[in-house]
Amino acid sequence: RMNTKKITTSSQALDGLLGGGIETRTMTEFFGEFGSGKTQLCHQLSVNVQLPPEKGGLNGKAVYIDTEGTFRWERIEAMSKSVGLDPDTAMNNIYYMRAINSDHQMAIVEDLQELIVKDPAIKLVIVDSVTSHFRAEYPGRENLAVRQQKMNKHLHQLVRLAEMYDLATIITNQVMARPDMFYGDPTVAVGGHTLYHVPGIRIQIKKSRGNKRIARVVDAPHLPEGEVVFAITEEGVRD
Ligand code: ADP
Ligand code: MG
Repeated sequence: RMNTKKITTSSQALDGLLGGGIETRTMTEFFGEFGSGKTQLCHQLSVNVQLPPEKGGLNGKAVYIDTEGTFRWERIEAMSKSVGLDPDTAMNNIYYMRAINSDHQMAIVEDLQELIVKDPAIKLVIVDSVTSHFRAEYPGRENLAVRQQKMNKHLHQLVRLAEMYDLATIITNQVMARPDMFYGDPTVAVGGHTLYHVPGIRIQIKKSRGNKRIARVVDAPHLPEGEVVFAITEEGVRD
């Protein structure tokens, strides 16, 4: 894994699990139940990418593709203040894009190369969540094949951007606590089955007591196995 750079998560435990943080040239998936903290992690990373290298960032900018309408500028404000960034600057360094359906989501990613060439400070591309539109528009087992085909194309484009432009891509994926309740659709299963066949790092996030969360890396031969605990606070992701 040569020449990759890392972005801190603001949790030393989680950074430790990831070998230092979220990597460039790699697609990282956060998967877990509703409320597990995937969106909060995305907000935190879109702030942290802007930090100087000595504070765990890349002096970079982020693209935040929001498919569920759960992005909140107030969270960016709070998190940036808390890590010592000027909130207005931090908000200006995030390109926010709302994807209204899966075709739109795919088109945004297809057009992203142009923006990245124009603004090479972009070091992080987030799609939160990558699966929701596809699941809503191509529901159940009967649409699985076409959904997977479209998702695969989309995900490969995200991987390619990461590799070509030395940036990190992050996708989120909501899965169910009780996959047996979901009509045999294997892509919603926790712990999950191959949702797709693309390279990357998969991190499962589970709720724990109070504001605590448990993170586990899945199927990453180059990272040690194990779980870590982190917290989601008013200030953002913390130990
Ligand atoms: P997911 O995207 O996995 O569904 P979220 O990232 O939206 O989950 O996490 C939501 C949780 O994050 C909330 O239930 C709460 O525990 C925590 N959270 C969100 N905003 C704040 C805040 N301002 N202060 C403290 N905790 C927060
Ligand atoms: Mg979310």
